[in-house]
Amino acid sequence: MQELLENLQIGFRGEILTHEPMSAHTSWKLGGPADLFLVPESRSDLQLALRLLRQHRQPWLAIGNGTNLLVSDLGVRGAVIQLGKLNKIEFLSGGKIEVEAGVQLSQLIKLCCQQGLGGLEELSGIPGMVGGALLMNAGALETEIGNSVSQIYLTDGQGEWALRRDQVDFAYRYSGLEGRGLISGARLQLKKVDPVVLAAQRRQVLKRRKEVQRVNGAHAGSVFKNPPGEKAWQLIDKAGMRGVRKGSAEVSTEHCNHIVNQGDASAADVLELIRAVQQAVLRTSGIRLELEVRLVGWEE
Ligand SMILES: Cc1cc2nc3c(=O)[nH]c(=O)nc-3n(C[C@H](O)[C@H](O)[C@H](O)COP(=O)(O)OP(=O)(O)OC[C@H]3O[C@@H](n4cnc5c(N)ncnc54)[C@H](O)[C@@H]3O)c2cc1C
Repeated sequence: MQELLENLQIGFRGEILTHEPMSAHTSWKLGGPADLFLVPESRSDLQLALRLLRQHRQPWLAIGNGTNLLVSDLGVRGAVIQLGKLNKIEFLSGGKIEVEAGVQLSQLIKLCCQQGLGGLEELSGIPGMVGGALLMNAGALETEIGNSVSQIYLTDGQGEWALRRDQVDFAYRYSGLEGRGLISGARLQLKKVDPVVLAAQRRQVLKRRKEVQRVNGAHAGSVFKNPPGEKAWQLIDKAGMRGVRKGSAEVSTEHCNHIVNQGDASAADVLELIRAVQQAVLRTSGIRLELEVRLVGWEE
């Protein structure tokens, strides 16, 4: 690790942190230290970091805003690469947009609405970056981000390559992109819509979100995917799990597909509660709830 650090310090532009608590980078405010935490300034710095990590046989994990992550209390071995500085957006002709992975989804949607480019407005209020949203195929109401993708750019430190939309298996909260490389950006294809109409739709979506997502405490949005034809929150409620606690982790009383860190929960408390909810739902409804949040740094 020392040699890797020395090599990084030669040419890498960006932040280099060691033993960085992941609790500072996740919406759950949970997670132990990452051995190495990198924030590259540019795509070339990202390439350099990935190349060095490969040379030094260190694993890496890309993150955006950490709003869909449950990182273990033991943290992450190897490097976490946070993409917040890769935040360029370029509007091309014909509704095409080149966007880097670290662009805030909310910022992108706001600009698109102003430019009269429609297709993403129903995703307003999702608190992720573009890379995380693509990996998760983030969605809300009738929209998933995958619907607007024309290409995704991936890298592994040995160059960058593009996948066309038909080469990506977008499905409900799934892209199949995990393990295929780091998402450095994408080309989106949006459609021309009156900016006044888009602004009104965006306001409406944000208002609705405020009303239905009044949750006190730190959380990561929906913990479980909705099983086909069912709502996870209804199954959890029916199983009597609303408000159940493990330490300071609580199944939200306001929205029971959310688990809230009420202060000093550990990641282990949250995972234990997740397992308890899964067991209770399996018992009462015969359905095994699948996780929407990603587990990082846990033993199998
Ligand atoms: C209040 C709240 C509301 C939410 N509402 C919604 C909602 O309505 N709909 C919805 O779909 N989700 C929702 N979420 C969940 C979450 O915001 C989305 O999944 C979001 O897209 C995740 O983006 P992120 O940048 O935070 O990703 P992270 O949590 O940082 O990462 C998520 C996953 O993507 C991977 N990843 C991140 N960036 C890259 C990259 N560049 N290359 C490769 N892999 C990468 C990570 O390794 C991880 O596996 C909500 C969360 C919160 C806290």
